[in-house]
Amino acid sequence: TPLTIIITVIGVIAIVALVTVAVLQNRPVPQKYKYGIVLDAGSSHTALYIYEWPAEKDNNTGRVEQKHSCKVKGKGISSYAAEPEKAGTSLIDCMREAELQVPTKRHRETPLYLGATAGMRLLKIEDSAASDKVFQAVEQTLQRSPFYYQGARILTGQEEGAFGWVTVNYLDDRLKQGLETTGALDLGGASTQISFVSRNYDISESPSNSVTFRLYGNDYNLYTHSFLCYGKDQVLKKALAHQTQSGPTKVQDPCFHPGYSVKRDYASLYDSPCVSDMKPKGAPSEFTHIGEGNFSQCQEVVKSLFNFTACTYSRCSFDGVFQPPLQGPFGAFSAYYFVMNFLNLTDTSFPLETVKKNLANYCATPWNELKQRHLGRVKEKYLAEYCFSGTYILTLLTEGYNFTKEKFSDIKFIKEIKGSDAGWTLGYMLNLTNMIPAEAPDSPPLPHA
Ligand code: AMP
Repeated sequence: TPLTIIITVIGVIAIVALVTVAVLQNRPVPQKYKYGIVLDAGSSHTALYIYEWPAEKDNNTGRVEQKHSCKVKGKGISSYAAEPEKAGTSLIDCMREAELQVPTKRHRETPLYLGATAGMRLLKIEDSAASDKVFQAVEQTLQRSPFYYQGARILTGQEEGAFGWVTVNYLDDRLKQGLETTGALDLGGASTQISFVSRNYDISESPSNSVTFRLYGNDYNLYTHSFLCYGKDQVLKKALAHQTQSGPTKVQDPCFHPGYSVKRDYASLYDSPCVSDMKPKGAPSEFTHIGEGNFSQCQEVVKSLFNFTACTYSRCSFDGVFQPPLQGPFGAFSAYYFVMNFLNLTDTSFPLETVKKNLANYCATPWNELKQRHLGRVKEKYLAEYCFSGTYILTLLTEGYNFTKEKFSDIKFIKEIKGSDAGWTLGYMLNLTNMIPAEAPDSPPLPHA
């Protein structure tokens, strides 16, 4: 009858609808991601990092990952002081890459930050108007991007140190679990940072070195210090300035390889506020920089750049800066890693004496031999400087921060953790997007018995 036909048709439609709903419910829903972009405007170069995390889990730990990074071609933004527009245009290629990496429909909601570090801190000291112009140029490029631009600024040394520490401990999943934290050692071209939690650290002794955090229900009293002018490029300038105090035309440098000989001009050596007041009067316009390849003499030159005597606190690292006792494991990244990795010295289970012996052998290697072995794969400037940089790193760690031969093995030289680069950028973004809650998220309700 027509009625049974109608009832059958309705029944079939209902069954099809129910099956469809069931099938759809069981099918894995395509994962939605959110994104954040941070530009690290360092002294020697700028890098763009894209982070991603599952959209429904903004507040969970260990979920934000680095999806992509892009190295901006050319030098750091502070090097464009004389032609600021170029600081802006230098970023365009990486911004285009970011537009391809982040799905178009997410562009408008994706926060974009630029943080500049010690290169711009120095330019601001030297020429604040030039620093403003560089920022204007950079802002122009970033404002034109389709992302949700949140501003460009210079990070303080404390922020740089503290956010590097947050990054390392977030990626290691130490914060949510309330585990003992890892200290962070960051070496840039113009500054270097040390940050760690020390058990018996009395914040009141030097309040400017302390940063307090409440993360996932735990309180952290972090000690942090950023040494401006102690990044590896500025320290090299200081070492050369130290050796050219009498304005010679020839410098025999133990930190460079035998057979190395390069003409340098005084003007560009003394062009930074880290050394400008040391410039010898009446110096010739250039000098010949000659390598000697002597590690122990190089160590003496590097040591003479630190002031170990002035200290008005109960204890100091160097240059009169307070430092509480070192504690726990440490991750050393950025140039610490680049240099020690090149030198094959990242394995800190070897005794410190062995590490020094290997570096001494390396420093004594003739320049020609090294060029034959490595050129084409390594920039000549880096290659020429690894002996100096390695010596500086060992001296800074052992004499500067007081990593004794027993404590040296607490340091791990790292580039990345679980696919994300170690550095301040991730911690900076997590903080600005409120992605790490102060209190531990509620535990899920217990299931019914
Ligand atoms: P910044 O640009 O301030 O973040 O500093 C990075 C530092 O790492 C600079 O001193 C660079 O010269 C140095 N650097 C980057 N890549 C390498 C590398 N492959 N080998 C040696 N040093 C490097």
